[in-house]
Amino acid sequence: MRPYVVVNVAISADGKISTRERRQVKISGKQDFVRVDRLKAGSDAVMVGIGTVLADDPSLTVKAEECRTRRLNRGVDEHPVRIVVDSNARIPLKASILHKGRGKRIVAVSRRADPQKIAALQQNATVIIAGENEVDLPLLMDKLGDMGIQRVMVEGGGTLIAGLISTGQVNEIYTFIGNMIIGGKDSPTFVDGEGFLMESDFCRLTLIEMHRIESGVLLHWNVEKPEEK
Ligand code: NAP
Repeated sequence: MRPYVVVNVAISADGKISTRERRQVKISGKQDFVRVDRLKAGSDAVMVGIGTVLADDPSLTVKAEECRTRRLNRGVDEHPVRIVVDSNARIPLKASILHKGRGKRIVAVSRRADPQKIAALQQNATVIIAGENEVDLPLLMDKLGDMGIQRVMVEGGGTLIAGLISTGQVNEIYTFIGNMIIGGKDSPTFVDGEGFLMESDFCRLTLIEMHRIESGVLLHWNVEKPEEK
């Protein structure tokens, strides 16, 4: 069975996730950081696109010691499986996600990826080949399900999230909206990609809850699956 997929992003009041130079920006505060860390600790895997790895070099580890201990007590690794969606295996071999924190890593590539780079990545990660020219996300989800991964948290960026939403892979979305405007038509939003043209194709959401966190607001959405439309 495909995993349950939860997207979490922090956006500015004008819907941007970073500057037009794709520079990482601080949108949320300490309280939201704790919420995100707990969400991560409760997931079997955390997924990002290669764009986020190249821009931010995240480790995607669980930061709170109590959350890591709770995971160990549940008999799972301290950190969730870290997954990078990277058709051409562009991930630097020194990327933090491949080295920081104990636990498994998966790099999902397409058939176009260089076999030598795949072999090098296999020193630190499991490489999944899914798709011809780009990662076939539904196929990847099938393979993750077969590996026993039941719950995936997606931490961005906008291109990967667009791919997941347009192929109907997302179940829930958390958007923390911060109290700033980043602006710029070229600054990424949390769902980039090509976008939907027809209203009938729009991805429809149901608001589960909303509440203020520090100077921003957290929206928690359920995603209507296409077949439910
Ligand atoms: P991204 O979504 O992290 O990665 C996108 C890349 O994933 C694609 O360009 C593609 O590269 C690869 N990919 C492979 N198969 C795909 C598929 N089927 N569908 C979609 N993508 C696929 O990159 P991004 O959109 O450039 O976002 C990065 C920006 O987001 C950075 O500025 C970062 O700071 C920001 N960010 C913000 C937050 C936040 O919460 N505010 C969170 C994360 C990231 P290949 O063709 O090479 O495979």
